[in-house]
Amino acid sequence: MNCQDMRLLLHAYLDDELGAADSLAVARHLAECADCTRRLRALTQAREDLRGARLYQSAPAALRARIEARLPRATLAPRARRRGWSMALAALAALFVIAAVLAGWQTMRLQRQGSDALVAEAVSDHVRSLLPGHLIDVQTSNEHTVKPWFDGRVDFSPQVKDLSAEGFELVGGRLDVLGGKQVAALVYKRHLHTINLFQWPGHAAAAAPPQTRDGYHVLAWNDDGLRFVAVSSVADSDLEAFERAFRAQPAAASEAAH
Ligand SMILES: [Zn+2]
Repeated sequence: MNCQDMRLLLHAYLDDELGAADSLAVARHLAECADCTRRLRALTQAREDLRGARLYQSAPAALRARIEARLPRATLAPRARRRGWSMALAALAALFVIAAVLAGWQTMRLQRQGSDALVAEAVSDHVRSLLPGHLIDVQTSNEHTVKPWFDGRVDFSPQVKDLSAEGFELVGGRLDVLGGKQVAALVYKRHLHTINLFQWPGHAAAAAPPQTRDGYHVLAWNDDGLRFVAVSSVADSDLEAFERAFRAQPAAASEAAH
């Protein structure tokens, strides 16, 4: 896959319309190509800007004056004219209320769609990671090896924690793509199960409830300017225990470790 192909595929990738093979090829190219990652980021940003745009605008005073000037006031008695004007205003106000409600509803719908899409993508990332050779780019049980490995590979400092005492063994990490962003993925093991913990900078508008999709459990939370999504086939209670253990342990001070 080259950058030219990527230009054609990025939009479909962002809309989650690609098949597994194309989507994997795009993710692989993104992991290696800064240009295409930047382009994807710009597309994602443009989309988010559009969603966040204020669709409801009040009419400027000049427009109001123009409408007022065009009303055939000469044919109306003063009282009737006043009544007609207030009815026009009421109709206008009702129109704006309807527009505002629609815009709010649309925003909520998009947020819910966004969160569903994120869960679906996290699960497909998890499944892909279980393919031979895809799980781990840096293999280690040592948090002090994993954390520096991400330096220069992602533009934020991921939280890496040793949870072996709680029964979750850190086995490594890798780069992945989620919601059009490059994210850090930590890999933990619980018995024979794999837990993928994705993290990236941001803050979800609303805490998502635990979800189950295609037999995988998904938990999402925010902490300290980062968004976390954990995916695994472990039991619900185990994944919740993982979240509790991860959040309870203070993040290792990376600078002090060097
Ligand atoms: Zn490229």
